[in-house]
Amino acid sequence: MDSLSQISNLGPKTLEKLDKLNIKIPLDLLYHFPTRYIDFSNSIKIKDTKESENTTITGEITKFQNIYTRSHKNIQKATVADNTGTIDLIWFNQPYLSKIIKVGDKLSLAGTVSFYQSKKTIFTPEHGHFHTGKIIAIYPETKGLGSKWFRKTIQTQIYNLTKNIIDPLPPKILKTHNLLDLKTALIQIHTPTNNNLLTQARTRLALDEILSLQTQSFLNKKEWLKKQPQILLNSNPKIEKSIQKLIKSLPFKLTDSQQKVWQEIKNDLLSSNKATNRLLQGDVGSGKTIIALLSCYLAHLNNSISIIIAPTEILALQHFQTFNQTLDKLKVPIHLLTASSKISINNIKNNSIIIGTHAAIFQKHKFQEKTSLLIVDEQHKFGVKQRSFLSSNNLNLPHCLTMTATPIPRTISLTFLGNLDISTIDTLPKNRLAIKTFLVPNYKQSKCYDWIKNQIKNTKCQVFFVCPFIDISETMGSIKAATEEFKHLQNIFSDFKLALIHGKIKQNEREKNIQQFKENKINILVTTPIIEVGIDIPNASIMIIQSAERFGLASLHQLRGRVGRGLSQSYCYLFTESENEKAIHRLHFLESHTNGLKIAEYDLKTRGPGEIFSTIQHGFPSLKIANLSDINLINESKEILQNITKNNPDFDLKLLTKNNSTETLVTN
Ligand code: ADP
Ligand code: MG
Repeated sequence: MDSLSQISNLGPKTLEKLDKLNIKIPLDLLYHFPTRYIDFSNSIKIKDTKESENTTITGEITKFQNIYTRSHKNIQKATVADNTGTIDLIWFNQPYLSKIIKVGDKLSLAGTVSFYQSKKTIFTPEHGHFHTGKIIAIYPETKGLGSKWFRKTIQTQIYNLTKNIIDPLPPKILKTHNLLDLKTALIQIHTPTNNNLLTQARTRLALDEILSLQTQSFLNKKEWLKKQPQILLNSNPKIEKSIQKLIKSLPFKLTDSQQKVWQEIKNDLLSSNKATNRLLQGDVGSGKTIIALLSCYLAHLNNSISIIIAPTEILALQHFQTFNQTLDKLKVPIHLLTASSKISINNIKNNSIIIGTHAAIFQKHKFQEKTSLLIVDEQHKFGVKQRSFLSSNNLNLPHCLTMTATPIPRTISLTFLGNLDISTIDTLPKNRLAIKTFLVPNYKQSKCYDWIKNQIKNTKCQVFFVCPFIDISETMGSIKAATEEFKHLQNIFSDFKLALIHGKIKQNEREKNIQQFKENKINILVTTPIIEVGIDIPNASIMIIQSAERFGLASLHQLRGRVGRGLSQSYCYLFTESENEKAIHRLHFLESHTNGLKIAEYDLKTRGPGEIFSTIQHGFPSLKIANLSDINLINESKEILQNITKNNPDFDLKLLTKNNSTETLVTN
């Protein structure tokens, strides 16, 4: 079957409705998987039916009434009998049933038995061959196309729909891993023979989803491995000595974790036959910047250009300042390249470090060829567009290092990021006090404000006040809300100096505000989540996040990471007006957890991959069946992929990536 219109009784109106569910071809219909099932396979005599059990009974209709109640409701009431007893049936507002169900008809009926007016009764029973006597599927629906329609259509068409299905997996693999073949799995997912086969079908189809993502990553990695570094970086005793000298000059000692990842990254950068494609992950405040700085310094000592791309101008500026301070006496040319700080390209030297926002940097391609290293900070805030810089047709590329503060659960990195090498900073610098986090309900807000006022007076600490905008792209609406909130806070904190920053405030004013905040000339910085990424102001030790329930936990954790950077105790107050139990529960989790990885895993379990993916990359595939926290399945899929690549070198892996269940993955 090549077209849906070949299905009889399927007219243009239905095609339109199917289109709404993104079902355009027969294969889409086959991959329109049920969300759940009801087991009506238990066919029994009426006398054996029990309360609250799902059952199917078969008997003769002995009575049928169409009743209109005084409150204008319409009820269909019937009685069915077999040779062991009777049961009442009740439907609501389905008058057409009187045309279908007649006294004397012999029918199978399925539903849950309950007692109503002290008689055994089934409310809204299913009837007819397609819906009774078996495990029935419940489908995602659209207006005018309910589960009944899908059940009937797919059951009648299952042979045609699956006729041409060819299993891409070799029979040997199916056998070793005890997997259903694809055709059987697809049949069983819609029309399960029993629960055991249904479970096997789900496993097989979930595995296909994971396998397609892993294979995609694997192929991407293979592609990348063909790339050569466009400028080779070398080390020699002199270079090594300069780097060691810089490390010694730092105001702190590198943590063991930092030393470990620096070794990993340095090895990559010095490789002569492969362009680095590495992800550096480390919780907020774990000290990734210094690793970036050392990498850039190595590029500089090799007389080549390195580029750091930051997601916001604020962060670019901050890096620029940190780099200038740290490399102060070493005569390294460092340039800031953002929309508002345009530098002349002529000033860029062959050994410069360029720090900027991606828009500004990618407008100027001139120095691209002289660039040995590209670092993307806080990768999660970018799309993949910046990758165009690394045009995939190029055989020679700069080394590429991406950094993210969103700790990535292992199941996710195994599924999606197999194409990247990963380095992890897994400890925070010593002497950091854990941030104390508190959920503050509405009625406690003013008390909290009083406490903060005292705290600022007594300890000269500073405060971030984050307004509730979940969107990174700041809309006019959110700016208005921030401005109003700002006025309100100015009244509450009338003894203090406040400033407001958001994306639409002019760059120089924003910079001025941040600078003054850094110098503690401003007590309270009111801001949109623009500060979420990267900002490092150790004296700011209190953060208030308004309408915290509107953020994901991963984002809240990022925000919270803006405090707790100095030596004094830091506090994070989560304001919420929500009384939603789940939301409160989630926020409580943040109160008691500080480990970013644990938080990310919790997000993954409770909210699915969207939360993490919206913070690590734009566009994530929606999986229909697979659960991204299922480590067993993910490991099994990995084994299968390894097995195939090892034992069937001629196997066309692209076959595995064409999974109808997953959308195209945004590739790295
Ligand atoms: P992130 O990983 O979130 O980007 P940063 O690189 O901004 O973190 O570092 C956070 C803070 O920790 C900075 O003020 C930095 O100077 C400091 N820092 C980094 N490494 C160490 C270390 N080994 N010991 C003490 N402080 C450190
Ligand atoms: Mg950072």
